[in-house]
Amino acid sequence: MKLSQHDLQQLDEDALRRLPEAALRHLSLTLLADLKEARERLAQNPRNSSRPPSSRPPWEHDPPADPPGPADQPAPEAPAPPTDAQPADHPTTTPSPPATSPTGGPRDSQAEKRRAGKPVGAPGVGRSQVFTAHTTEDHRPTVCACCGQPLSATAPAIRYTGFQTLDLDGGDAAAPGLRLRVIDHRYLAVTCPCGHHSRAQPAQGDVAPELGAIAVQEWRLVGPGLATLIVALNLRFRLSRARIREFLHDWLGVQLSVGTLHQTLHEVGAVVAPAESQLIAEAQASGLLHADETSWPQPPQRLWLWVFITTTTTLYVIAGRGKATVVQLLSGFTGWLMSDGWFAYRDYPRRLRCWAHLLRKAQGLVECYDADGRAFGHQVRTTLEDLMVAIYAAREGPPADPAVALPQAYAASLDSLRQAALARLSHRHDKTRALAVELLNDWEAIFQVLHHPELPLSNNDAERALRHWVIARRLSHGTRTPVGSRAFTLLASVIDTCRQRGHSPWTYLVTAIADRRAGLPLAPLPHPADLYTYLTPSLPHEVSSGGGRKYPGGYSSRQPTRSSGR
Ligand SMILES: [Zn+2]
Repeated sequence: MKLSQHDLQQLDEDALRRLPEAALRHLSLTLLADLKEARERLAQNPRNSSRPPSSRPPWEHDPPADPPGPADQPAPEAPAPPTDAQPADHPTTTPSPPATSPTGGPRDSQAEKRRAGKPVGAPGVGRSQVFTAHTTEDHRPTVCACCGQPLSATAPAIRYTGFQTLDLDGGDAAAPGLRLRVIDHRYLAVTCPCGHHSRAQPAQGDVAPELGAIAVQEWRLVGPGLATLIVALNLRFRLSRARIREFLHDWLGVQLSVGTLHQTLHEVGAVVAPAESQLIAEAQASGLLHADETSWPQPPQRLWLWVFITTTTTLYVIAGRGKATVVQLLSGFTGWLMSDGWFAYRDYPRRLRCWAHLLRKAQGLVECYDADGRAFGHQVRTTLEDLMVAIYAAREGPPADPAVALPQAYAASLDSLRQAALARLSHRHDKTRALAVELLNDWEAIFQVLHHPELPLSNNDAERALRHWVIARRLSHGTRTPVGSRAFTLLASVIDTCRQRGHSPWTYLVTAIADRRAGLPLAPLPHPADLYTYLTPSLPHEVSSGGGRKYPGGYSSRQPTRSSGR
């Protein structure tokens, strides 16, 4: 780059108008060289530079087509759209099918045809590992199916069917551990004095049509404890199915197919599906809801992972980015909604805006090349920072301090900010204009917190909840089917809600799976317990209400509590 930051800050329209033609020509050449270099840097991607694949946005999961030759043809106007040419989706070790044409066009349809999973006609793989059972469980019929009389527990019985279950023996408190336990389930038939042969049957729970008609049933190789471990490895520890397979093989000596793991994850999703209505009802009943969304690929669609979070409930939804998701969830909600400036939230009347976003945008202006934009950025930043100090003071101040005083005390600086924004509604600099428009559009929502200083200033709770899944998305590239997305959000919601409430999600899931496979209803999600009992048992209870937690940026998203000053 020939022109430095310092040089660019001095160059604007007036400066150019003053230059004589020769100087202007020289400057143009310099600018052109800089622009070309900047464009080249912008066009860098994992295919043509040392940038890591994770630097690519999630919707560009395929590298764009080769650009035309560097010297003989002009560079493309804009980066190629992601739909341009899509070579094979995933790098595989098997040779890719030969391209039908070197032009790259027909590979499009080939990539579509090549579906994930075993190709039709490939040899099948069955279970080859033989397990020796640690225990045997006999299941006897207790009542005659014909005459209804109780059957004797000592009557001769014939074993008519059975299956093996692999489960975890977690040890006990004295000797915790992770041991595999193989159980032989034997189902017996008993002949009643009335002459009828009655059989014991493995229990059958629901069939979940929305989750690919998967059945929740006892006849499963993977027992509740092992199924919970698989869910934990996949969602909490973000392991792919292949890595889970490797883990189970190396640490427990079990060979499970990817298909079995896949089915287990979907079945456990179906197990917890009834909890969703409880989560929605509790989120709607809360006084403060944080909402955020991040893109989530479900090829060929580009969807969004939404999170709605209260102090005790987390709900995830994978859907489009339109209003429908918000409208559906917020029908019946009357509390405060904290969100970013996305249009889908705009119609909700009791809205709060995240100041962290605005401060970042103001900081962006402070560092921009437009002199007037820099001034506006400074004004927004200092106004918000002054107000934040006042809000903290109001929160910690004596209760007699009337909260209504804040809007009046800062009326002058608020008015000056509004005038500054109004004056820049048609500003030449895009970012400056955008921030002015955003401030005026959301004025009420942004400064609502002055009337209610106890409300949060940032949307950190929702953003922190999404962070875990953003990392998961980089590893897994999203989900592949609507059923997979559904199982994923159900499990993620239940796991995060349990953790938020101070309970082990895994204890809950083991019981839930066993209950639902036996045909029993799903137990309600645990109540918010004494927080910190899970993972941090030694902390005293006074700090459990979440007060005094500081987040990056120095402000807390929670209302300070009596204990926070200590
Ligand atoms: Zn009978």
